[in-house]
This record gives sequence, C-alpha cells and structure tokens, in this order.
Amino acid sequence: MDNKNIEEIVKKVLESMTGGSVPARGAASQAIPKTARVAKLVEKGRFELQEYPLPEVGDGDILVKVEGCGVCGTDAHEFKNDPFGLIPVVLGHEGTGEIVRMGKDVKKDSAGKDLHLGDKVVTCMIFKDNPDITMFDLNKQNVGGADVYGLLPDDDVHFNGWFADYILIRKGSTVFNVSDLDLKSRVLIEPCAVLVHAVERAKTTGILRFNSRVAVQGCGPIGLICIAVLRTMGIENITAVDGEPKRLEFAKRMGASKTVNFKDYKGIEALAGAVEASFGGHLADFAFQCTGSPVAHANIYKFIRNGGGLCELGFFINGGDATINPHFDICAKEITTVGSWVYTLRDYATTFDFLKRAKGIGLPMDDLITHSFPLEQINEALKTNLSMQGLKIAVINK
Ligand SMILES: [Zn+2]
Repeated sequence: MDNKNIEEIVKKVLESMTGGSVPARGAASQAIPKTARVAKLVEKGRFELQEYPLPEVGDGDILVKVEGCGVCGTDAHEFKNDPFGLIPVVLGHEGTGEIVRMGKDVKKDSAGKDLHLGDKVVTCMIFKDNPDITMFDLNKQNVGGADVYGLLPDDDVHFNGWFADYILIRKGSTVFNVSDLDLKSRVLIEPCAVLVHAVERAKTTGILRFNSRVAVQGCGPIGLICIAVLRTMGIENITAVDGEPKRLEFAKRMGASKTVNFKDYKGIEALAGAVEASFGGHLADFAFQCTGSPVAHANIYKFIRNGGGLCELGFFINGGDATINPHFDICAKEITTVGSWVYTLRDYATTFDFLKRAKGIGLPMDDLITHSFPLEQINEALKTNLSMQGLKIAVINK
C-alpha cells in the first residue's frame, strides 16, 4: 500500500467520524477562544498579562496561535530602559506558531510555499511602501529599517507581538512556512539569521574560504551560532576566545577546534600569542568579533594575519568608542573589515536550511536554549536574560 492510499483511508475514516469536514492538524482543530492574552510591557521592568477579544481576520490576514518566542537582547534593553520609547508594547519578535485562521486571499508564503491551516510559521519584516524592498532582492539592503512584530507600539489590534497567546499577521507582512522545523529550531531562526548574514558579509571579502583559520571572539549565543554556521560551511580550524570556561566548553561542543580563555593571559601580546599558538604558529586568516566590548574590538586586530579579514557584528547597541592604531592594525596589515547588521530576507530563508544542516551534522543547537518560561512568567524570563544566566531564554506556550 503506498502513502497515497493510506492518506485516502485516513481521510475517509476521519470523515466518517466528523460527519464531513476534515479537521486541521494540531491547534487548528481546537476551538479558537473569543478572547486571548498578550503580555504587555506597561512600564519599565513590568509586563502585565492583558486579555482582549481576538481581532477579525481580514482577507489577507493570518491568525497564529503562538507556540514560543525567544527573548532577544533588544527585548531586555526595552524591558529595562525603554530606549525605543515603545511602552506600552507587546514585545517578542523571535516567535513561531501555528496558523489557526486565515483570510481567503492567503495562499502562499513569502517564498512561494503553500500555506494551510495547521502550518507552522515565522514572520520576518513588515513591508512598507518602499520600492527598494522587494522579496529576495534584499541583498542590497538589510531589514534594519523595517517594522517587525514585537517592536510595534500597541494599537487597537493588540496582538502585535509574539509574547502572547495569539498574533495577527497582517496583510503585507513576510511570513514563512517552516512546518518542517521543530519548535526549538523555529525559536532559533531569528538569531541564526544574524549569523548567516554575518558570514555572507564575511564572504564578500574573498578571504574566508574552505579550511581558513578563523578566530571567533565572544561565545554568547551569537558567537556560538557563528561557530555553527562556519562548521556547516566546512570550516573546521576555529579558535574560540572568551573569558568563561563554561562558554568555551560549549564552543568546543559546537565545533571549535581550540579555545583561548583571555583571562589566562596578561596583556594583548600574550593573548595574541595564544591565538597564534592555537593555529600551530599562524595568526587567523579571518576573525569574527561577537562581543559588545570596545576593548575586544581593539584587541581582535592583533589576532589577524597580514592581508586577513575581520567581520564586526557585536555592537547591537552603542557600546562606546574603541581605540585602535590605524597604522599597525589596518594599513600595515592590509586588513579587510566588514560590518554586519541584522539580515536580509534572503538570509532569513537560507537560515531554515542552515538549521537542518547544523542538526544533520550533529551540532547541539537545541542546547542553546538553556531556560524556558511559560507566558505567565514573562517578567522572570526577562530578568533571567538581564542577569546573563544561561544562553538563550525562551517563552514557550505549550
Ligand atoms: Zn532579536
């Protein structure tokens, strides 16, 4: 009996049980309540769960039952200090969930894949009337200036962020069908896209190649995922630099061949010597700077060989000035540097494949999520992030 036959039989049995219509998979088959909760940041340091009627779903809209959402550094900054002036706001932009209702005009996702009730989705950015932003033409422009769910001021829809029971994906948003990825992978898509983009930026230098010697400085989630992306590209000569033995241990599990604890070395000469020794007496061909420390930025030039390359991606917020010596650090060594910021839509879609490949070669991606909290404990989730405990913190609804 082939699969098609089995599908037919299952369908018939289900029809006989339900009197005609086949229920959608998972949550889509459950009754959708009239009201649902959002976690709204009502003042600095305090989310409140608020209940609202679920909004009407327009012809181009999608109603998604939220399954989980990662806590981002951006959320933590907003929670603590409201630097973006968004309060009151429903945060959460690293979310994923299941389609439970959709308008009649919704047929395909932003990559052309079919969309059905029960499919698992993520969103990326919300298109504005900007003619320069078109799908998959975005390598010329990252999505830094675009709106995203979870960073929108509250409005009369309320279901605008992923720290909620439901979210309304409005017409004109990018949405991707990622039903073939498990929940943890889907929660990791957004931070992973940052690294897929950084490595794409690094490749534009022409210096990052198969078998390059690569130094990755900073082993928080960003540095660890950086190592993972490099490993999926066949780069295996990787030295991870950090000050925390636990993080360096994780870097090894992620595929770093050597680790250097900067606390073991006094002065930059000794530290650079350790990096050089880790590559068997060579400096790095390429380095990724994944910390938010200006001193770390200044140091990293010393790890790189003449003619080497550097990708700086650590500064999501202004961390202050770094002092470098342009003669020694850049000119005399002819170092090619690139900066990297968020991602393009193309990188976002590439990330789905990266996650499958990373798991395929046995990288411990799931272990990046060290803490998960139910929506009721959103305040604890944010506080845990701010206390720098663990790696990736997630709010998981089920
Ligand atoms: Zn984020």
